Amino acid sequence: MSKIKLHDLYFEPFLSEEKITRTVSNMALEIANDLKGEVPLFIGILNGSFMFVADFIRKYPTDCEVSFVKLASYQGIQTTGKIKQLVGINENLEGRTVVILEDIIDTGTTLQEIYHIFKDKKVKTLKIATLFFKPDVFKKELHIDYVGISIPDQFIVGYGLDYNNYGRNLPSIYKLTTKKMTNIVLFGPPGAGKGTQATLLKQAYNLIHISTGDVFRYNIKNQTELGKLAKSYMDDGNLVPDEVTIKMLQDEVNRHSNANGFIFDGFPRTSSQAKALDAFLEAKGESINGMIALEVPEDLLVERLLERGKTSGRPDDQDESKIRNRFNEYNTKTAVLKDYYESQDKYYGVDGVGTISEITVRLKQVLDRI
Ligand code: AMP
Repeated sequence: MSKIKLHDLYFEPFLSEEKITRTVSNMALEIANDLKGEVPLFIGILNGSFMFVADFIRKYPTDCEVSFVKLASYQGIQTTGKIKQLVGINENLEGRTVVILEDIIDTGTTLQEIYHIFKDKKVKTLKIATLFFKPDVFKKELHIDYVGISIPDQFIVGYGLDYNNYGRNLPSIYKLTTKKMTNIVLFGPPGAGKGTQATLLKQAYNLIHISTGDVFRYNIKNQTELGKLAKSYMDDGNLVPDEVTIKMLQDEVNRHSNANGFIFDGFPRTSSQAKALDAFLEAKGESINGMIALEVPEDLLVERLLERGKTSGRPDDQDESKIRNRFNEYNTKTAVLKDYYESQDKYYGVDGVGTISEITVRLKQVLDRI
């Protein structure tokens, strides 16, 4: 499960369908146990409670009646404080055991109003049950008899609850996202030290490091379909086709939907990958904070790669013509991305010559700013 967009806002998964089902079922059994020998009238407060009431009633093990009343209290994500009129009670409530079923109680303003309307109707017993409760914002003296799940003061949608009428159909609960990810493209030609630095930075900033090269090599080693497809391109130092790489990257990002952010290493490598990445992140309410490029002269890079090839076991590191081909791919297809990110004011060049720790310090200086 990952983030969703409703109107202009983004929401992330918060409470699972299973947890809700279990809670509703427990509430029904607990209330039935307390009201043994009675035929209660459950009154759901529309619109938000319709799903809760429907599930609750199905779990209620003995005779009961159900009705709904309606009053609108929410406009957008702020409680308006104004309570509208209550409509829909046609039953004679005198002498009845009434249980109000609410989807959510936050400030309690709506509830208090409803409570007094019912109190005036000479009911025998009046109880309140709510699926969700926000103890931190509840301001009333009223006693809430049954609480399903207490939650912090966060705006939630799903399972009947809406944001400007959207989101009621979601079977689980989502909360409004407030935090933004830190997403970095670590850029530079082959051998610039992206992988080495990414490993250090991911720890320091608690980010997920995605190296498309590593993912491909993992797939080759495990002889997956993706690996078989990528191998011939990689061995010759050519780029793997965009469709394959973009899909793979999206899958990797989606596997970590709760991450603080990502270090993209070796991606994007073409303009269409960069555009796809922007569109993909935008659909999640996220974006690239910056491209940090390690700048290293080409001769030094060839030296570094040949040296690495002695131990890395990578066929594309061992042969100078393949290395040159990788530079050629880089210069013709990838280097243009500097302009792409520069035009968005997101390009940060860093001197990539020096010791590993010197370079890490330079990268951190940039990361701390963006
Ligand atoms: P790297 O480990 O980043 O040097 O990548 C090794 C090889 O994996 C490249 O030469 C390409 O064949 C392939 N590869 C990695 N990332 C990409 C990408 N974003 N687009 C296309 N091919 C890629």
